[in-house]
Amino acid sequence: MSAFAQQLITWQREHGRHHLPWQCDDPYRIWLSEIMLQQTQVATVIPYYERFLKRFPDIHSLANASQESVLEHWSGLGYYARARNLHYAAQQIYQEHHGNFPQTRSALETLKGVGRSTAAAIAVFAWGKREAICDGNVKRVLARHFALNIDSTTTSAQPIFWQLAESLLPHSSEDLKSYTQALMDLGSLICKRTRPLCQQCPVQNTCQALARNAVSAYPKKATKAPKPSRDGYFLLCRQPNGDILFSQRAEKALWGNLWILPWFDTEQALQAFAHQHHMQAQSKMQSAFCHVFTHYRLNIHYQEYYLSTPQLNGTSSTYRWLSSTAIQSAALPAAMKKLLNLKRS
Ligand code: SF4
Repeated sequence: MSAFAQQLITWQREHGRHHLPWQCDDPYRIWLSEIMLQQTQVATVIPYYERFLKRFPDIHSLANASQESVLEHWSGLGYYARARNLHYAAQQIYQEHHGNFPQTRSALETLKGVGRSTAAAIAVFAWGKREAICDGNVKRVLARHFALNIDSTTTSAQPIFWQLAESLLPHSSEDLKSYTQALMDLGSLICKRTRPLCQQCPVQNTCQALARNAVSAYPKKATKAPKPSRDGYFLLCRQPNGDILFSQRAEKALWGNLWILPWFDTEQALQAFAHQHHMQAQSKMQSAFCHVFTHYRLNIHYQEYYLSTPQLNGTSSTYRWLSSTAIQSAALPAAMKKLLNLKRS
């Protein structure tokens, strides 16, 4: 076994995390946690994970649920494509694998939304398979420990990272589980993206970035152009009973299938829509905050309106009035919740 793996295993058994709610050998629970943990911190995930599991305790309940119900239980966690893929993959498992989880990394990778690293994590924790994980956290650890002078985000760097990750794997299934968990723990607790805790690191003696006093120089990244920004104008229209008008996004659109305040590209378009439906303005257009998507920044503006009747003549069924109770459980993106909370505070 590599010295790197040995040190990590010893450290994990003594200092690592052993009581996370998904630390078990149930592939469904491991899969769910792996998907939720993509781009989201452990502390944020835990309450969502528990709530989701209560409603969808197994693959059967998830595969048979409506997409709307799955999105509702994902609401607020962000990156909703993960929830749609999860739902789709549950149906794949049902239809293509008779409800049984595939047991090899390559078969797991055929499930929608399951990449190589996620498939490897499931294969290791559920079945003790000898597979390497190599997500963003692991790449950061490897890039620093081995002082890799390659941009970890490029396509050409990927085989180098995967080969290195595989070469470090221990052999026994118990060691594999501890080692894989150790890499996850190290990446999230010690070798953090900013301000890594090198003095507490179990591999500090062999870390080449630390030896060169150049930890912040790794992983190497090409300088990126700043994200473009655009403006979005949101209509906040209330009825006399306080219900608020929402519209549902198209499935393939950004925030696909989620409910948002009606969104317009220009202030004029918003006001023309309001005028067409006899809404009365209650405020001027106001700037709220900037929401950052993967590819651009959205400056969110909103204007409040009032409509004395629930009728919206000539509009499609993608519009719906939601009460404050319905809003609590509806599938809303985090940016919309933030905007509504802003209005409440
Ligand atoms: Fe990361 Fe520091 Fe440990 Fe090196 S010594 S692996 S930079 S935490």
